[in-house]
Amino acid sequence: MQITKQLLAKSSEHETPYYIVDGVSQGSTVMVTAGIHGTERAGFLSAKKLVELLQRDIIHVHSGRLIIIPIVNQIAVRKKIRGVPDLNRTFPKHIFKSACHPLSRAVFELAREHQPVWYVDLHEANGLSGIHPRSLGQTLIVNPRSKAIPAAKRMIRRLNTSIKKASIHFSLLQRELPGSGRSAAYHLLHSNAITVETGIGLPLKLRISYQMNILRSILREAGLLKRRRESQNSDQLK
Ligand SMILES: [Zn+2]
Repeated sequence: MQITKQLLAKSSEHETPYYIVDGVSQGSTVMVTAGIHGTERAGFLSAKKLVELLQRDIIHVHSGRLIIIPIVNQIAVRKKIRGVPDLNRTFPKHIFKSACHPLSRAVFELAREHQPVWYVDLHEANGLSGIHPRSLGQTLIVNPRSKAIPAAKRMIRRLNTSIKKASIHFSLLQRELPGSGRSAAYHLLHSNAITVETGIGLPLKLRISYQMNILRSILREAGLLKRRRESQNSDQLK
């Protein structure tokens, strides 16, 4: 496994590090973005934790490529604000248009260059979908008819069996959000694009543990991590 650190939007006010992690054998590419919104801490703290666990070889990518931008919007995170403009409305909406912000343009160009099979954007939201079905907190969001739906359902089922309280269970939402990183990756790059939204009212440690759990699940689904024997066996039974 090889990890290289690079800089996105280099020498601009938006400059931010990103990491490319290559397994020893070829496989799918997964791209993870976080810190698009500066107030959604569990997202970028989890992405940073993922980088640290990879650097310490506690999580090991054995095949494929993982690209992580732990903090997309450095300015918003530093100011502890959502970000102005809302970066998640500035990604390209059409194949012939480019993003209307230098930062989302840099993120999308990196994605276009690497053509990720999976595109994962880490966020947080208010409310709990287990209590109010219209809330975004504790959801995975995909685009309607996305080919990521079966895998997302599998991941949610697995995750929810480990969560005792039904009120904080995760649910799947299918929606369009024009200008978001997810919709751009789904429509323009045909990625399995997923937004992760933990409930921002829950304790931070818990939110990070959910984000990490989902990240590991996606990396396993994408074939980047070796499957544990027990999950392999239970998959064979299905
Ligand atoms: Zn967000």
